[in-house]
Amino acid sequence: MTGTPTHCPYCALQCGMTLTPGDGPPAVAAREDVPANRGGLCQKGWTAADLLGVPDRLTTPLARPRRDAPLEPCTWDEALDRVAAGVSRLRAAHGPDAVAVFGGGGLTNEKAYQLGKFARIGLGTSQIDYNGRFCMSSAAAASLRAFGMDRGLPGPITDLGRSDAVLLVGGNPAETMPPFMRHLADLRGRGGALIVVDPRRTATARAADLHLRPLPGTDLALANGLLHLAIAEGLVDEAYVASRTTGFEAVRTVVNAYWPGRVERITGVPEPQLREAVRLLAGGERAHILTGRGGEQHAKGVDTVSAFVNLALALGLPGREGSGYGCVTGQGNGQGGREHGQKADQLPGYRRIDDPAARAHVAAVWGVDPDVLPGPGRSAYELLSALGTPDGPKALLLFGSNPVVSAPRAAAVADRLDALDLLVVADFVPSETARRADVVLPTAQWAEESGTMTNLEGRVLRRRRAVPPPDGVRTDLEIVAGLAGRLGAPGKWSTDPAEVFEELRAASAGGPADYAGISYERIEREGGVFWPCPDEDHPGTPRPYLDRFPTPDGRARFVPVEHRGPAEDVDGRYPVYLTTGRVLAQYQSGAQTRRIPALADAAPGPFVELHPDLAGRLGIEDGADVRLSTRRGSATVRARLTGDIRDDTVFVPFHWPGEGSANLLTNPALDPVSRMPEFKVCAVRLEPAGTS
Ligand code: SF4
Repeated sequence: MTGTPTHCPYCALQCGMTLTPGDGPPAVAAREDVPANRGGLCQKGWTAADLLGVPDRLTTPLARPRRDAPLEPCTWDEALDRVAAGVSRLRAAHGPDAVAVFGGGGLTNEKAYQLGKFARIGLGTSQIDYNGRFCMSSAAAASLRAFGMDRGLPGPITDLGRSDAVLLVGGNPAETMPPFMRHLADLRGRGGALIVVDPRRTATARAADLHLRPLPGTDLALANGLLHLAIAEGLVDEAYVASRTTGFEAVRTVVNAYWPGRVERITGVPEPQLREAVRLLAGGERAHILTGRGGEQHAKGVDTVSAFVNLALALGLPGREGSGYGCVTGQGNGQGGREHGQKADQLPGYRRIDDPAARAHVAAVWGVDPDVLPGPGRSAYELLSALGTPDGPKALLLFGSNPVVSAPRAAAVADRLDALDLLVVADFVPSETARRADVVLPTAQWAEESGTMTNLEGRVLRRRRAVPPPDGVRTDLEIVAGLAGRLGAPGKWSTDPAEVFEELRAASAGGPADYAGISYERIEREGGVFWPCPDEDHPGTPRPYLDRFPTPDGRARFVPVEHRGPAEDVDGRYPVYLTTGRVLAQYQSGAQTRRIPALADAAPGPFVELHPDLAGRLGIEDGADVRLSTRRGSATVRARLTGDIRDDTVFVPFHWPGEGSANLLTNPALDPVSRMPEFKVCAVRLEPAGTS
């Protein structure tokens, strides 16, 4: 192998690639030795090296001399002094919670850890959360309450290919992470069945043996209906339920009311398809139930995932080798990013911040008294909504995120950012959020620095530096250390990722996400290590539930859950369902992928996908501009007519800013447990652009 082995900068599959410097961007080659991609990459991965040389790359700090003045170049000392002075002033005037931190699910484990530590003991603020709250927080919460632990897939990704059936709910890996489809192709090649649940006939659904097309927001009823049928047809693994779970009788009582005719009325999925799905799922030795954002990004996302976990438990899947429930995590470090302290309610190692023992352990590693650690803060949307309000933070330090495009009700979020006394953005491109900042700190990016990422399997991987960063930029660790020094923060603030990882190991030791036995050398030697891994002699844990679940009694917990409608249902004024998502050639807010020419050519702008029957009723022609309006705002996008979507639902991808931005429309109604916004369904009105 020539070149530097590393991993793709984008999604949670963390495909292995090598980068070989030459004239121009480094040459990208796909790695055969990484099980997740086995020599495959998607278009985003093949073009990833272009990201290193985008024309508007930030290479000097920027600051506004006055709030209403344009951003101007300045030195690093000037920028960091300005941030430290602003933070100190606002903390003195309003208290430590006047300063907030917002992180990202693409940051390395080391950065996520250091940001959480900096917020808690560098700034003393409880106000930290991250964009992963918008990603898989509902699956995380449902997994915690069922299994006592939250870890992406239930085993190595290659288990999918050895399965007899996979039920995939609200995920479209054929576009979001195409090499994932190799594992589903293995499944089908062995005669296994792929069942996809999605209101759209996506590229993934087209590859399925069975496609269920429920009305958006009705997945919970669908899951309860499938469990009803599993019970009725004698497919429940009663011995497993008796020996490894608690709470089934309460769930049995609830799902008794989800007979097929009722579920067909709620979801629109025909009864024969419901029966076929259950028989396929229960027909073999091994099966997986997986959820993606389509099932999770709802105001009832946690309960929806719980309904599918209940189904998995009734069929005896979790804890059986080669079977189980899993979440297909989205962002590059969506898994590790939620384990090491960026979340409002957590400390490193996936520890609860309100647990006295957890506080004592982490405080000892940080060399501070546990009493100085703040308590839980606001969740991501609540934090963004509070910015600049009388009781909310007055300053925000933002790393690796672009909420002006990716947050729900994005126009209101932009207004809150503008209301701050101090907005500081660390990024390597002038994202839509960075352009609103008072101070912009230019950072190194993926191939220019090292660290670890934890992929969707729970496998900890090495990201390696393949090229030097351009002059003028700093790493996020250097930025945090520079601020911590200026603010007189206690503790050690290393800029060396390897040293930070050693501290992370100690902080996570004994916690649910235990990295104590994982070292850079081990990852190097073994090609990745699965957590939990409590000591260096421990082999790591590819399949965590084989013997027992990490609950007090060792059993998984059924949770009875009832269907209810979306937070905002259709009516005469807003008569159509809107759902949002991603396309093959763009990633998340698009701040990175919109700058890659090949990707911009492949997916140049936003569109609305709608059924020809609906378009006919509304007088909308293919390719015409369409105005979409919800109770939160309007967006204008190009019509794309397709029979691949229900005629009561439209789809808009969310990668673009401006007048076509999908998140001008989305509903920030929050799940009561995970605080996940309801990105996946709201009520919308469509009309040809130009009509009033
Ligand atoms: Fe990168 Fe994900 Fe594409 Fe793999 S699937 S190349 S990790 S974007």
